[in-house]
Amino acid sequence: MGVIYEPRGKAREYSELALNLYKGCSHACKYCYCPAITRQSLEDWSKDPQPKVDILKKVEREARKMQGCSKELLLCFMSDPYQDEKSANITRQTLLIFEKYGFSKIQVLTKGGELAINDFDIISRNKGWKFGSTIIFENEALREEWEPGASTIQSRYNAVKKAHEMGIYTWVSIEPVVNSEEALKVIKNLKPYVSFWKVGKINHYPEIEKKIDWSKFLKNALIELNGQAFMIKKDLLAFYDPKTMNPIYEKPKAIKTIIVSDIPIWIREQRDPQGKAECDEFRARAKARNGKKTIVNKKLY
Ligand code: SF4
Repeated sequence: MGVIYEPRGKAREYSELALNLYKGCSHACKYCYCPAITRQSLEDWSKDPQPKVDILKKVEREARKMQGCSKELLLCFMSDPYQDEKSANITRQTLLIFEKYGFSKIQVLTKGGELAINDFDIISRNKGWKFGSTIIFENEALREEWEPGASTIQSRYNAVKKAHEMGIYTWVSIEPVVNSEEALKVIKNLKPYVSFWKVGKINHYPEIEKKIDWSKFLKNALIELNGQAFMIKKDLLAFYDPKTMNPIYEKPKAIKTIIVSDIPIWIREQRDPQGKAECDEFRARAKARNGKKTIVNKKLY
């Protein structure tokens, strides 16, 4: 397998292609699934992260072969592209390689906050590229407890706001939800700056899972997300009840778990006339359906 690969299983819900630049991650999130996958302790996973051997050469070689790639590619599922200055520099070189070879859909996902801002020049000049941040808390003490090596919440907020200000498509991953109230606060406060949301529950932590009323959380999240473009991950979507929750209008086959509330705000609408036309058409169809749930075989973006 090359360094650019097709994720499998649940990770596939996030992106068609992925690239992990590092082995290990200094953010040391308590919920990180990577130590289990790589069969090591969280301590070992996070104590001395290193770039993969010859990573830039390998990226260059593979990117050259994939010139003009239009599949969405995520940095990174396993590790974070912005852990410190060194990793940020490798990420910048990587983005420049993808730009050189005409990759049209790159997205970064990070808990590195303002460290990523230095690359917004590259991201903003490539119109299909996106900046994503995982933010599951407002409360800094909870962040410190669960994500001790990651940037502060304020720093992540600042990065999302800056990206939005620069016209970059922003998305926020609220996954894994470990505290439902905190997750709702993030949606409420960052709403004006976020193009797309991804929301998912915590798994493999039965003690925490038991404490959260997932139906109630989903219901409140759908209210909070009304008018936003978003995706609810499968495990959380299992708690959807059409009788008591905000209607779901769109569930395209191509992206099985994406759902859009009654006033979809898709980034394409803001970016190109065809996207705007599709959104207008969608609104008309949603209105005609009078709020009934339907399945539409159509890609959203
Ligand atoms: S940022 Fe991601 S890869 Fe890094 S420790 Fe946290 S969950 Fe794991």
